[in-house]
Amino acid sequence: MTTSISGRIAVVGAGVIGLSVAWRAAVAGHHVTLIDPAPASGASWVAGGMLAPVSEAWHGEEDLLALGVAALERWPGFAEQLRETTGREPGLRTDGTLVVAVDSADLAQLDDLAGHLGKLGHHADRKTGRELRKQEPALGPAIRGGLWLPQDLSVDNRALLATLQQACATAGVTLRETAAHTVSAERVELADGSTIRCGQAVIAAGAWSGRLHPALAGRVRPVKGEVLRLRARRGALPPPTTTVRGTVEGRPVYFVPRADGGLVLGATQYEAGFDTDVQVAGVRDLLRDGERVLPAISEYALLESNAGLRPGSPDNLPIVERLEPGLIAATGHFRNGFLLAPITADKVLELLS
Ligand SMILES: Cc1cc2nc3c(=O)[nH]c(=O)nc-3n(C[C@H](O)[C@H](O)[C@H](O)COP(=O)(O)OP(=O)(O)OC[C@H]3O[C@@H](n4cnc5c(N)ncnc54)[C@H](O)[C@@H]3O)c2cc1C
Repeated sequence: MTTSISGRIAVVGAGVIGLSVAWRAAVAGHHVTLIDPAPASGASWVAGGMLAPVSEAWHGEEDLLALGVAALERWPGFAEQLRETTGREPGLRTDGTLVVAVDSADLAQLDDLAGHLGKLGHHADRKTGRELRKQEPALGPAIRGGLWLPQDLSVDNRALLATLQQACATAGVTLRETAAHTVSAERVELADGSTIRCGQAVIAAGAWSGRLHPALAGRVRPVKGEVLRLRARRGALPPPTTTVRGTVEGRPVYFVPRADGGLVLGATQYEAGFDTDVQVAGVRDLLRDGERVLPAISEYALLESNAGLRPGSPDNLPIVERLEPGLIAATGHFRNGFLLAPITADKVLELLS
């Protein structure tokens, strides 16, 4: 059966957002072409994978919190559907999140967060340093107190990307491993000189989205972030079972455990254009602050250091909207692309129908 051009969808970018959109659109019956010179790369390959709207909450970002909580509710169903389709484990962990503080200023910031969350109807369980160490013995003596947020989850970013790639293939998504040069309504010009004509195009190229259409040029910017990947060596204290986030003298640091015993330590954040070098200072800061929270990491193996570009937007909210007839944007997910992937895919499906 041939599909008319109006029934064809072109998705530009195969990070967590483009893959999620392509999969859900193909399952909904669309004929989907996914375009990316390096699928499953970008920020998605680097990310920690926290699904943590509540511990990420901040004053003035109530809309983002509400969106994140709505996205988190869709995660178990999204993961289950992926599991059923592919027979693979998408890497969702439901062990919850601890937020810890080292000095009194960090502790005051946590009290502020707990108060803010309470006013918005989100309960945060306060814990003493001793209670925290009982729950996660690897936490160091410097930890003064914290909050227990069982509702904040995590996903293994790379397991999820592999599962999404397989789900796309199973659903019949066509992959073109080349870059898009420009994207306009119903048309994608490729770097290899060919053109894809479609009923609707979706720009999901993360931090690079601004290069593909003038309407996104000033709205999406790269925000660099560095992370380290560690593994406990024999004899070292095992990693925590929950996500651990902390502030060390005001600087944020987090640990996200993986099912294979790995541990992601993140993340720096700076505006450095499209630079993806891992800087010595970034690694030093992560290790220094990370060791205050989990001293045992000094005995761990350092497996990888990576830098990625979060797609920042002016108000930290994603840009999921119709830019013009035949052209949709699904970008600007900044620090929350994994958390927001299921809700973004649903919103794009609504826009496509
Ligand atoms: C250090 C770090 C930690 C993070 N931690 C978390 C976290 O814990 N939880 C969370 O939810 N989010 C986290 N994020 C944010 C998350 O990674 C991003 O929001 C998410 O990956 C954005 O997904 P995306 O698909 O829009 O973009 P990307 O993952 O960047 O993917 C964009 C894709 O577009 C492709 N592309 C680029 N240009 C073109 C072109 N011209 N033509 C075709 N394809 C193109 C790229 O090859 C790439 O594959 C983190 C990010 C970083 C950097």
